[in-house]
Formats: sequence, C-alpha cells, structure tokens
Amino acid sequence: MSIKMPAPDEGTLSRRAEIVAALRAIVPGEGVIADDASLKPYESDGLTAYRQTPLVVVLPETVQQVSRILAWCDREGVRVVPRGAGTSLSGGALPLADAVLLGMAKFNRILDIDYEDRLVVAQPGVTNLAITRAVEGNGFYYAPDPSSQIACSIGGNVAENSGGVHCLKYGLTTNNVLGVEMVLMNGEIVRLGGRALDSAGLDLLGVVVGSEGLLGVVTEVILRILPAPEAARALLIGFPTIEGGGQCVADVIGAGIIPAGMEMMDRNAIHAAEAFVNVGYPLDVEALLIVELDGAEAECAHLSEEVERIALANGAVNCRTSRDDAERMAFWAGRKAAFPAVGRLAPDYYCMDGTIPRRRLPEVLERINQLAESYGLGVANVFHAGDGNLHPLILYDANKPGELDRAEAFGNDILRLCVEVGGVLTGEHGVGVEKRDLMPEMFSECDLAHQQRVKCAFDPNLLLNPGKVFPTLHRCAELGRMHVHRGQVPFPELPRF
Ligand SMILES: Cc1cc2nc3c(=O)[nH]c(=O)nc-3n(C[C@H](O)[C@H](O)[C@H](O)COP(=O)(O)OP(=O)(O)OC[C@H]3O[C@@H](n4cnc5c(N)ncnc54)[C@H](O)[C@@H]3O)c2cc1C
Repeated sequence: MSIKMPAPDEGTLSRRAEIVAALRAIVPGEGVIADDASLKPYESDGLTAYRQTPLVVVLPETVQQVSRILAWCDREGVRVVPRGAGTSLSGGALPLADAVLLGMAKFNRILDIDYEDRLVVAQPGVTNLAITRAVEGNGFYYAPDPSSQIACSIGGNVAENSGGVHCLKYGLTTNNVLGVEMVLMNGEIVRLGGRALDSAGLDLLGVVVGSEGLLGVVTEVILRILPAPEAARALLIGFPTIEGGGQCVADVIGAGIIPAGMEMMDRNAIHAAEAFVNVGYPLDVEALLIVELDGAEAECAHLSEEVERIALANGAVNCRTSRDDAERMAFWAGRKAAFPAVGRLAPDYYCMDGTIPRRRLPEVLERINQLAESYGLGVANVFHAGDGNLHPLILYDANKPGELDRAEAFGNDILRLCVEVGGVLTGEHGVGVEKRDLMPEMFSECDLAHQQRVKCAFDPNLLLNPGKVFPTLHRCAELGRMHVHRGQVPFPELPRF
C-alpha cells in the first residue's frame, strides 16, 4: 500500500471504550460492532489492495440516530467514514484506524413511488437494481446502471456520481437525482433539491452529488424514473483494428445518433469474456463494439441500419444485430461479465478509471499497451467508448514481491496520460484514496484550495472521510486566511467587518 493515510490520533485511540459506549447509548442493540472478528468484513471496500480495521462500526436505523452520532463525533473531535455497500473501487469507504465507520445498510426501504411525477423516494441503503425492480412492473426503470448495480447502494451512487452503460444517453447519477436529505457533521439535517425538476438558490445538490462522503451523510434520495423504451436492439461489431472501432464510435456520435449504450473491448477482454460466457464473440478481431439503440420500434430499426452502415465504412469485419431480447442480452452478457472473466487471466487485477476525449482513443490504447510492455504487466481494456471512459484492467500477482507497486505505478501513468490528452482522472469510480495524490496533475494549488473551502463550509473540523480526495488537507482557518501584501489589503473597496 503506497498511499499514506492521515496518522491515527492517539488520543482518539485511547478513548475507544468511551466512544463505543457513547455510540451504544445512541444506537442500542446490535447496531454497534466493536469486536475484532466482526470488524473484519469492514476493513476494505472494492479496492481490496488497501485494508484498515475501523475503530468501531455503527449501523444506525433512523435519521435522528445519524444526526446524534455525527453531532457527538463533531463535538468530541472523532473522525467518521460513511459507508454504503462497500463496492467503491477507489477506496472511498476505506476505514481509518481512529474513525467511526458509519454504515448505512439498515436504511434499506423505498419510501414512495410516484408514477405521475415519475420519481422514487428511497433510503440510501437501497441497492441500485432494487429501484428498477420496484417500478419495472409498471413499465418504468432507473437509468444509471453501474455493473455493480446488484450490490451497490443508491447512497454510494450519489456520493460517487456513478455511471453505467446507459449513462451515455440518460446521464450519470447527477442527472437522475432530484433531491437528497443529508445530515451535516454538526448533526444538522438539510434538504437539497426536492420533487420538482429544479429548485431555487445555489445548486448545492450538484455539489453534493459526487462529493465522496466528504460533505455529509445522505439519508434520503429522490430519484427520477423513466418509462421503459418500446424497443431496444443491440449490434455486435468486430473490427480488425482499434483505430477502426474508435473512429466508428466518433462517427456514430458525429452523425447525431446517441445510442443507449456503446461499449468496446480489446482483444484480451474479448477472449476472456468469450471463454467465460460462450456467447459467440468473434475471436479474430482486435476490437469489439456493442451498440445498443432504444426508442420506438421504427426508430430502432432505422438507427441500427445507420450504425451498421457507419461500422462497415470503418472496416468492420463482422456485424450482427440482435433479433430478440434474448440475443440482445447475450451480446451484453460477455461485457457485463468482463471483469470477473478477466479475473481468470491473472491472480489479481487492478481496475483503472479515467476519461479521455473520444477521438484520442486509438492513440491512448496504443500508449497503454506500450506502458504494459515497459512495466512487464498484462492489461485488458474494457470501456464505455461512447463517453470516453476507460477501464484498463492491469493484471498482476499480489504474491509476487513488487508487482502491486508496479501495477499502481502503471495505473498512475495511465491516469497521467488521460489528463495529458485532455481528459480527466476519473470517469465514474471517484478519486477516493486511489487517485488522491494525482489530483495536482489536474488541478492547480488554487483550484484545490477553492474545492477545500467548499469542504470547510460543510465540515469545518474536517472530520468526515479525511484522507480521501484531497492530497493535502489544509486547516480551514489556514484556507480562509487573508493574504496582505506589503500592507495592501486585497479588494480595498470592499467593506470589512
Ligand atoms: C464489480 C464492480 C463493478 C463496478 N462497476 C461500476 C460501474 O459500472 N460504474 C460505476 O460508476 N461504478 C462501478 N463500481 C464502483 C462502485 O460500485 C460505485 O462507486 C458505487 O456507487 C459505490 O456504492 P456503495 O454503496 O458500494 O458505496 P461505498 O463503496 O460504501 O462508498 C463509496 C463512497 O460513498 C460514500 N458514501 C456511501 N454511502 C453514503 C451516504 N449515505 N452518504 C454519504 N456518503 C456515502 C463513502 O464514504 C465512499 O466515499 C463497480 C464496483 C465493482 C466492485
């Protein structure tokens, strides 16, 4: 583990028994976990290379309990790490030795379904897929669909601004959340947004979605639901070169077609996925593109012909269009199973997440392959091609000394490359601990200071999820300090209080 976390506060560690007793007074019964064996399952999230046993775990059941826990911790200077289902791939829910891990798993109820206003009100521990399951009988669904949707929580999705295959057309979590209820570190309960499509005042909801558990604990979410499309069909297209596939993606979007999903896999990923699910993926191609079109039947038929035409013009060597839903699902089965399938290629893999401008795809993949060679590690590429979100899966063996360090260094180089070509450090997995120290590659000291001022406005004692997202955490007083140069106060015309 090469990333350093904030040093544990010895004073807090020595007060463990008192902290556990205080939490038990707020959450009675089995809601406080303090014995070593029961703490084990919480020591990691989806970024399993990083582990840390938490000080204690608390599983509140009511908003009032969350409020009292946070207010007590704030008063006593105790750190808190919020946790949903623990599937974060960037270490967002990684515990700290001196922090209370606040698990939201018991907030697992859907509170309201309103088909007229097309929304669902849910507690944050409800899984992503459970939202769609609750409304599909009436012909609706919740569009953002991370591959982890069977397990990940809506609260975690809000914190990470999660995405999925359908986000190209229907937007990320941020485009599908209408409002949240959130408890601040001082125990105050606030509501941001609401049941309407827009709300007055500053867009604090936009600030909170994607804030990675640094600003408050989400206790309720209002989500937009959509009517299921009349028809959907998928095309499975093989290319002899990555360039051909990349250009096809650009040309489809350039033609004004926004598919419901547009995913690409490279040779390693295609072979791993086909061996895993046996759905007939072509094995003699360098790139496989899955394009899904949805809408009215006639629209789907027309657009799939258009996509096929564009694919052939870019040198596609196979192109199959799904004839029914079963075949469409089979096309997706390999892509959906690509991560576990790649797990067969090496004892361990490290899933990266960066975003690039679509047109740089072929060049970036070429450079990723060169990096793989220079690090002596394998890589399989699976990506949301439509929005330029790459997921290189770096293959390594954690039991071989030094391989994890090399995998991390390789991953960091990939992310630097994303920024270098005009992209960003993360597509949908968040910054967490994984990309924290790379933030200066993308943001200036001044940018980061402004972001931290937002953090200070919500959590001035910096107790909520410390060690994540920001490479160096300045004290809030330090950030607010005014710089007086040679006796000259900046903006002298402004009234001072
Ligand atoms: C196999 C696999 C596939 C994946 N595929 C995708 C994908 O396609 N797209 C994608 O976007 N992600 C994907 N992920 C990553 C992950 O599932 C998402 O980031 C997800 O949103 C995390 O949700 P969670 O409930 O597990 O949150 P956790 O991992 O528990 O926490 C994630 C972050 O959210 C914060 N948090 C959690 N709950 C709350 C709350 N109630 N209030 C405030 N902060 C909170 C935590 O502090 C942490 O910073 C994948 C993960 C795995 C393991």
